[in-house]
Amino acid sequence: MEKKSIVILGAGYGGMMTVTKIQKSLRIEEAEITLVNINEYHYQTTWLHQNAVGTVSDDRTKIPIKDVINPQKVTFIQDKVLSIQPKDKKVILEKRILHYDVLVIALGFEVETFDVPGLEAYAYTINNIEKARELRRHIEHNFSLFVKEEKKNLSRLTFVIGGGGFTGVEFLGELADRVSELCKKYNVDKQLVRIINIEATPTILPGFDEQLVEYAMNSLEARGVEFITGATFKECTPTSVLFEKYGMQTKISTHTIVWSAGVKANSIIKESDFTTNKGKIEVNNDMRSPEYDNVFVIGDCALIMDFEKGKPYPPTAQIAIQESEAVAYNIRAYIRNEEMEGFKPNILGTVASLGNRDAIGIIFKNKKVLGWKATILKKIIDNRYLFKLGGLRLLVKKGKFAIFPRV
Ligand code: FAD
Repeated sequence: MEKKSIVILGAGYGGMMTVTKIQKSLRIEEAEITLVNINEYHYQTTWLHQNAVGTVSDDRTKIPIKDVINPQKVTFIQDKVLSIQPKDKKVILEKRILHYDVLVIALGFEVETFDVPGLEAYAYTINNIEKARELRRHIEHNFSLFVKEEKKNLSRLTFVIGGGGFTGVEFLGELADRVSELCKKYNVDKQLVRIINIEATPTILPGFDEQLVEYAMNSLEARGVEFITGATFKECTPTSVLFEKYGMQTKISTHTIVWSAGVKANSIIKESDFTTNKGKIEVNNDMRSPEYDNVFVIGDCALIMDFEKGKPYPPTAQIAIQESEAVAYNIRAYIRNEEMEGFKPNILGTVASLGNRDAIGIIFKNKKVLGWKATILKKIIDNRYLFKLGGLRLLVKKGKFAIFPRV
């Protein structure tokens, strides 16, 4: 059998889980496996809201790729993917060109700014470790400037978060907790701090269970978060955000705008030679591109329709991880000329943290969980992933065990 070259782009949830599976299931003489990623580490995107305020350290969230891959079977290349040329079966990286027999695209998401003037330039985002670090430093820097500056500028203590979806709400919870600590550290009256959430739809967490949404709002409001729903961002400047509600525009003075209201698939997909739907590749049932039968797509770059709801499944780590099982199985089947399997997401539940001590979630289709039970459940979900990725060793090294931990 001719040895096949398998190239995996992106070491996020989808890419890493695919690699760990195929390095076990394929023999050395069957395949040459190459993983490409921009950083030498994998990071847990679902923890980034905690890195962005400093409730979890970057080192906890980062996992060196070499700690997880088998170097006998997988070659890791740290490089940036620039484009994919599927007709010629090649990938253009910043420093070299790679040829492949089988490709897995797992390049994740980018922030969608909906062309709001000033948003890209002045809003902070939480989409990778570096961005999270910038935001964390900026938040603390503004506390320290507020204390130092003679003329007290309350906009340094005003934080405006655009988007009340899962990421926005999880960030609000962490920020609310962190602000209490920063107020103590810098001896600032907590009443001076404003955390304002602006959400375009009539409610935060749109589509989520109403009782849990109310619980989340109460929990966050009790810690000082203000909600403005049914309002859209119109313009951002370095020191303000303009929003519109009921046709009326209002300006808030702030030094910190955080944008968590939209993601889209990595733009490399659109810029390469693929037909796209909402910027993603609408994959076949076996997770392959309908145009190129040697290209698998996974995670936030893939679009799968939820026919029961008549809309695509949302981009989540949960689905990316499940997809990796099907992709790994089907790559082996493709190489061995065996039958592939179809994939359908099995949504086990959704849990959103509301800071360090509170959370909400739905499990087993419709069972509601909240408070400390949901907080523990969230940690179990995080730990389960670590175990799946790197076994007991990784779980012990990076796992979340303390009930109410700090960094
Ligand atoms: P990613 O995990 O984003 O990985 C993509 C990888 O590709 C990254 O390593 C990146 O560095 C690399 N890459 C990107 N571009 C290039 C390039 N040009 N060259 C080389 N490498 C590149 N989902 C849930 O299910 N549950 C949650 O609780 C949850 N919470 C979230 C909280 C936050 C703050 C955020 C931002 C997202 C959350 N999500 C959650 C969504 C989830 O993180 C994504 O759906 C998931 O990360 C998608 O996995 P992926 O493998 O497609 O991409």
